[in-house]
Order: sequence, then structure tokens, then C-alpha cells
Amino acid sequence: MSVAIRRAVLLAFIAICVVVSPGRIRARAENPPPWLEAYRAPAARLIGEATGDAFAWRRLSVLTDTIGHRLSGSPHLARAIKWAAEEMKRDGLENVHTEKVMVPRWVRGNESAEIIEPARQPIVMLGLGGSVATPPAGVQADVLIVHGFEELDAHPAQVRGRVVLFNVPFTSYGETVRFRSDGASRAARHGAVAMLIRSVGLNGLRLPHTGVLQYSDDAPKIPAAAVTTEDADRLERMVGRGDRVVVALKMEAHFEADAESANVVGEIRGREKPDEIVVVSGHLDSWDVGAGATDDGGGCVVSWEALRILKKLNLRPRRTIRLVLWTNEENGGRGGLAYRDRHRSELGRHVMMMESDSGVFRPLGFGFSGSDRARQTVAAIASLLTGIGADQIVLNGEGADIAPSAQEGHIPTMSLEVDDSKYFLIHHTEADTIDKIDPENFNRHVAALAVVLYVVADLPERL
Ligand SMILES: [Zn+2]
Repeated sequence: MSVAIRRAVLLAFIAICVVVSPGRIRARAENPPPWLEAYRAPAARLIGEATGDAFAWRRLSVLTDTIGHRLSGSPHLARAIKWAAEEMKRDGLENVHTEKVMVPRWVRGNESAEIIEPARQPIVMLGLGGSVATPPAGVQADVLIVHGFEELDAHPAQVRGRVVLFNVPFTSYGETVRFRSDGASRAARHGAVAMLIRSVGLNGLRLPHTGVLQYSDDAPKIPAAAVTTEDADRLERMVGRGDRVVVALKMEAHFEADAESANVVGEIRGREKPDEIVVVSGHLDSWDVGAGATDDGGGCVVSWEALRILKKLNLRPRRTIRLVLWTNEENGGRGGLAYRDRHRSELGRHVMMMESDSGVFRPLGFGFSGSDRARQTVAAIASLLTGIGADQIVLNGEGADIAPSAQEGHIPTMSLEVDDSKYFLIHHTEADTIDKIDPENFNRHVAALAVVLYVVADLPERL
């Protein structure tokens, strides 16, 4: 290709896109690439089918009402895996099977927290995933409140023998979650006896948010729990008034032996290049509170539904679309690692991997990680989704479970881009139930996924 032609092609690619904001592009209706034309009719059919009834939402309601939350190693998750594989077969998906993964089994047990002084008051809490137990009689100590690691490390002598509360208001998940992950070991290094954290989430209705912690090897393991924002602020006010504040914490949390679990896989085999694979996925495991509806039963079911309607409309793309429902995203990531290891020899034939784990509120489009050329292709495909408001392509289409395979195989990745203004109200709480999910938005996710998957899997050239 000559330089002039190459430049003309490049300009044509640029012409189909306008910059909405840095890293955010939206395909424009004029000057679409010629190949897009063939996909308008199937896209319209898929959108019509996806938004035509509430089958997917009803399926999610069965999962969340009947099976409920699904922590790794729990009988609930085992039941969900069995149910999903049976239902996928009933849908007519191909090559439906489970792929064995050994997962950690953390059991919460009974737990409670209480203010003892200046007056006895209960604290609303949830132990952090992976925490150790307190001694059977519990831990009781004065509270030390800090607002960051610098403040903690600045006064090591005051930490010894205390229950440390990290009272750090939520900014972004990435910014605030490090106190949940690392706070226990950071405090234990200075002699703290337990760690409490202001829940990593938005101010809600006195809901604690659980989530995983990481102990480091160079510090004693101390019990750790999340308290509600309301309780964190109450403790802060009491200390601020000069009260001596003593809290008691009791937790039975512990690990049992690793348990057998599985990723659930189903496919639509490609009609011309069945060995080339487009993966779409969500994680079937959840925390042991709420019903794991938004995180991530919703992501599983919208991904799954995309295959079901492709099958129903008899749209079989050139390449294989593989649905993977991951195990153990929340507290180990072993499902994603096991997939990478088991499928190592075919990672080079993975055209794209997608994970839906950002909630299923109003869809805006997709995140994408890959080459600029592939990004322009994806943006052109997304222009088919303007009618449902899901046509934005933003930077970084990542997912915890697809990351190990994508990194090793240098595979482009995508994620759903969602209005997440409510996500961290319910994330990892008792309130993660299906009533928070609007069936129309849910269907728009299905439509967006089905169109993008079909076109990416069917394009004459791989992405
Ligand atoms: Zn998740």
C-alpha cells in the first residue's frame, strides 16, 4: 500500500469518528466503512429480539431469588453452576461443559461489633472476605481513627493494642479500595489488634460493604471488618468530642479446605473459522450477602442472553462465540487463571475477550483495549447501537477474569461501559438484589453485546 493510499485509509478511519472527550469516541453516522452495511439488518433484528421481552431479566430473577448469593466453594455456587450448564443446554448452546477449578472456601460465621464505651451501642458491620476470626471471646480495645496510611505510619506508638478504623470517604473505587485490601496488615505492623474500615462505597442507608482483603506475609493477621459510613462518622464524632471510645469485635471467619468449582462454558460454533474465538463472560460467584444480582449475576445473564438470541435468530457468525461464566472472581481469581492455563495453546486464536462486570445500569457503550486500528473498527460497529444509546467506545476494556489470558495472549479486550452512579451504593452489600435492575436497561445490554459479538465474530478480517 502506498503512503498516499495508507494516509487516505487512515483519514477515512478518522472520518468515521469524532472525539467526544479524551479517550472517548463515538462513531458518526456519515462515512461509515463499506463493510458495516451488511451488518445493519442483523443488528436491527438482534436489537428487536433483545428488547422485545424480559426473558433475560426473568432468568436472572430465578438465579438470584432461588439460588441467591454464591460465594466460592459454597453449595449455592455449586447449584448455580449446575443450573447454568443445564439451562445453556436447554437454550441449544453448543459444546456446553464445565471446566474444573479448585477455589478457596472462606466461611464468614457469626460476627458482630459493638461500641462498649462511652455507652453500649451496636455497630453495623460485615467482616472482610479472607479475614481471620477473633478469639472466641472477641477483641475489645480503644479505637484509633486514621484517614490514610501516612497518618497511620506517623504515629506508630499510638497504634499498639488498638482497633484501628480507617475512616476514608469514598472517592473512586481504585483510590479507596486499597485501605480495604491493605489496611489490616498496615495496622498490624504497628501492633493493632483489629482493623475496621469505613465501607468502600457511597453513603447509603447504613449498609456495610464487604470485599476481599490481602494480608501481607510480614505482619500478624488481625481480624478486619467494614462498618457503615454512618457508624464510621459516629465513631469519628465521639472521638472528636474527646470521649474514650472502646469497641468490641467478634468474628468466626475462617478458611476451610479448597473446594471443587468450575467455569461454565457454552458456545455458538463459527461457521467458517470455528477455531477462532470471541469470548464473552461474567463471573457467577458473588459475595455471601445480597443476591449477587448486579455483581455479577447480571453480567453473566446479559452475556449468556446474547448467545441465546443469536441462536434463536439463527445468526451463526464466521468465528466461534464462547460464553464463559467464571468462578472465584471475588476472592481469588482462580477461574481466570485456570482458563489461561487450560486454553494456553489456543490463546493465539482468541480474537477478542469481553467481560461484563461493571453492573447493568444504563449502558453507554464499551471499554476497549487493543490497537488503534481495532478500536476504529469497534467504534464503527458501535455506531449500530446509537438507537439504544450504547455507542461510546472508551479507553480500557478490562476485566479481572479475562486479564490473565489477555495478557499472555496479547488479546484485545472489551468491557461494558455503564452509568455507574448507583453501582457503589449496592456493591458487595445486602442490597445487591434484582429489584435495582431495570429490565429495559438490562435488555439494552443484551442488544449491545449481541451486536458487537456478532459483528466481531463475523468480520472478514479478525479484529
Ligand atoms: Zn464483580
